[in-house]
Amino acid sequence: MDFDLPRDNADIYEEVKLFCDEELRPRARETAERGEFPWENWAGMAQMGLLGVPIPEEYGGAALSWLDWAAVGERVSNACSSTGAIFAAHYLCEYPILTFGTEEQKQKFLVPLATGQKVGAFILTEPGAGSDAAGVKTRADRDGDEYVLNGSKVFCSNGAEAGIFIVIANIDPDRGARGLTAFVVEKGTPGFRLGKEDKKMAFNALSNPELIFEDCRVPAANVLYREKGGFKVALETLSVGRIGMAVGAVGLAQAALDEAVKYSLEREQFGHPISEFQAIQYMIADMATEVEAARLLSMKAAWLKDMGREYDKVAAMAKVYSSETAVRTAVKALQVHGGYGYTTEYNVERYYREAKLFEIVEGTSEVQRQVIASKVIKESKR
Ligand SMILES: Cc1cc2nc3c(=O)[nH]c(=O)nc-3n(C[C@H](O)[C@H](O)[C@H](O)COP(=O)(O)OP(=O)(O)OC[C@H]3O[C@@H](n4cnc5c(N)ncnc54)[C@H](O)[C@@H]3O)c2cc1C
Repeated sequence: MDFDLPRDNADIYEEVKLFCDEELRPRARETAERGEFPWENWAGMAQMGLLGVPIPEEYGGAALSWLDWAAVGERVSNACSSTGAIFAAHYLCEYPILTFGTEEQKQKFLVPLATGQKVGAFILTEPGAGSDAAGVKTRADRDGDEYVLNGSKVFCSNGAEAGIFIVIANIDPDRGARGLTAFVVEKGTPGFRLGKEDKKMAFNALSNPELIFEDCRVPAANVLYREKGGFKVALETLSVGRIGMAVGAVGLAQAALDEAVKYSLEREQFGHPISEFQAIQYMIADMATEVEAARLLSMKAAWLKDMGREYDKVAAMAKVYSSETAVRTAVKALQVHGGYGYTTEYNVERYYREAKLFEIVEGTSEVQRQVIASKVIKESKR
C-alpha cells in the first residue's frame, strides 16, 4: 500500500505549496474580512492551472488525477479557506460537463471553466428543496428548440461571479426526482437574474445569491446528459463534491491545529509554555489524530474514484468525518488560545465560524449518514 501522493507530480506540489504560502496565506484574513470575491487569487489559480486539475488537456486542463485535485484542494483551503470554498464550488460546475457533456458542450463550456476564463456554479437548492432534492419546483417547459425556465434558487455558491451555471430544474414536478433535468445556463441569458443575498456568519468572500428565472429561454442543446436525467447528474456531482468538501474541511482543520500548536509553544502560564500541560497536549493529540484520519478517508475516496471503483460511500464518510473533525478541531484550537481565541486578533475564531459550514453544504451530516447507512445495509444483503 502506497500512502504517498503521485511522485511524478512532486514539482507541481512544490509549486502549489509556494503559491499557497506566498500568495494565498498572507492575504487569507484580509480576503475573509473584505468579503469580496478574491479575483487576485482566482487569477493566480488560473495561471497555475489549478482550475482544471483533473480535466483532460484537450479541454484546457492539466490532465492530473482526482487524487491530485483533492490534494490541491486541501492545500488551497489550508492556506485560504475562502479561496478553497470558491475552488470547490467551481468544480461542481466542471464535473457534470466533463462527465455528462457532449463534445460540443465540453468545447463551449468546459474549456473556459478549466482555464479560469469563467467562474462556474452548480445550483440545485431552492427555498423549499434543500435535503430533499426531489422537491425542486423550478420548472422547465419545452418550447421548440428551447426550454423555458421559471422559478428561483437559493444559496448559489459563486453565483454573483459565475459565467456558467449548472441548473437543476423540473420538467415534470409531479414526478419529483424523475422529472429533474440539468441545464447549462449562461450568465446574461434573458430572464435570468440574481436576487437577494444574505450575509453569512463566515465565508463572505464566497457569494451565495438567490437566482431568479422568469421565462428564461435556454437552448435544448444545453441539456446535460438527457431530459429527466437530472437526478443522476445531481447525485454524481454531489458525490464528487463531497470529496471537495472533505478536503476543504481537512485543510481548515490542519490550519486550526497548526495555530493551536504554535500558540501553545508561545503562551506561558504558571512559568511554563502551556504546551507542557497534559490537558493541552491531549487536545493537540486528539486534533492531530482526527485530522490525519480525515485526510486518509478523503484521499481514499479520491483514489477510489481514480481507480474507477465505487466511491460514493467513502466520499460520504469522508465528508461527514472531515466536516465534524473541522468543527471539533476549531473548538479545541480556540480553547487552546483561551480568551485570546475569542478575539478577532487570532484566526481561530474565524475557523470556528467557518468549520460549521462543512456540516451543512452539499448534504448535511444527517444526509451523509443516511447515504452511508443505506450503502452499508445494501452491501450486507449482497
Ligand atoms: C454557504 C452555503 C453555500 C451553499 N452552496 C450551494 C450551492 O452552491 N449549490 C446548491 O445547490 N446548494 C448550496 N447550498 C445549500 C445547501 O446544500 C443546503 O443548505 C443543504 O443541502 C441543506 O438544505 P436546507 O438548508 O434546505 O436544510 P433542510 O433540508 O431544511 O434541513 C434542515 C435540517 O433537517 C435535517 N433533515 C432534513 N431532512 C432530513 C431527513 N430526511 N432525515 C434527518 N434529518 C433531516 C437536516 O440535516 C438539517 O439538520 C449552500 C448553502 C450554504 C449555507
